Amino acid sequence: MKKLRKVLAMLLCMTLLVGCGANGAQSETGNVAQSSAVESIHESKVESGEESQTQEQSKAPESAQESEGQEPAESAEPESTEESKEPATDDVQDTNVNGEEEEMPEKFVALTFDDGPNTTIMVEILDILAEEDVKATFYLIGNNITFVTEDVVKRAYDEGHELGNHSQSHLQMDKMDEETLKQEIELVQKKVESLVGERPATFRPPYIAISQLMHDTIDLPFIVGVDSRDWDPTVTAQERYNNVIGGAQDGAIFLMHCFPGNTETVKILPAIIKELKAQGYGFATVSELFEMQGVTYEAHDGERYSVLSKQN
Ligand SMILES: [Zn+2]
Repeated sequence: MKKLRKVLAMLLCMTLLVGCGANGAQSETGNVAQSSAVESIHESKVESGEESQTQEQSKAPESAQESEGQEPAESAEPESTEESKEPATDDVQDTNVNGEEEEMPEKFVALTFDDGPNTTIMVEILDILAEEDVKATFYLIGNNITFVTEDVVKRAYDEGHELGNHSQSHLQMDKMDEETLKQEIELVQKKVESLVGERPATFRPPYIAISQLMHDTIDLPFIVGVDSRDWDPTVTAQERYNNVIGGAQDGAIFLMHCFPGNTETVKILPAIIKELKAQGYGFATVSELFEMQGVTYEAHDGERYSVLSKQN
């Protein structure tokens, strides 16, 4: 009788254990389902937040003025990488004693990114540039340089990128008086200098809104550039790629953005860099490009630089 009780007790225990296990598994999957739902809600919130931010950007008159003369190129697709590799490498590569190919670019371009610094997209772009071993130029907004972002500014400088001036407030400057213009420039010059010990050497006007008074007052070269149109959230990654690759030529300065939420540019940047490399381009900062191409800037020269052609 005692034996039977023992056996019954054991059976009862086992049933309970199996039951527990099953319950446990069930509630776990329940939890998993719940948490992924939470994640997707979170994601869509983040996305819509980013979207409203980029839309705000696109309302700016930058759209009208920066698009001047920039037509999306139809010819260049990412698929063309393979085709274009051949002639490009013939042009620019030598073979050294070990039979290894050494790249010696004969033509250079400059990648530029406006509206930083920040701790999101600018950091992602710095990571890509480091991965690709490419130097670029960041046009910084003074108001964005804070104790939160100053490490990103220092990192960009330490990694060999150029820091340019994109004004203190990022307001349209073409209606500003002389005093305000001087402040807009000088505040950024001082902030950058205090962080990295060097003052920006080039200037990108916000929205490419330019007055004669700006030319007369600001003694930095005005950099415009070949527009990727990446300030417009409706312009796809592929179109951004086409705009850059279609506008590629020796001395071209490409205008792109690293404002928060600009994920399409992050997405396509590696492909852009790889294609430019495949076409035989080297990468320089804007100031380096001036030097390489033999373009001399005279203060208040009234020029707007987009492509720096080689000078004799
Ligand atoms: Zn800007």
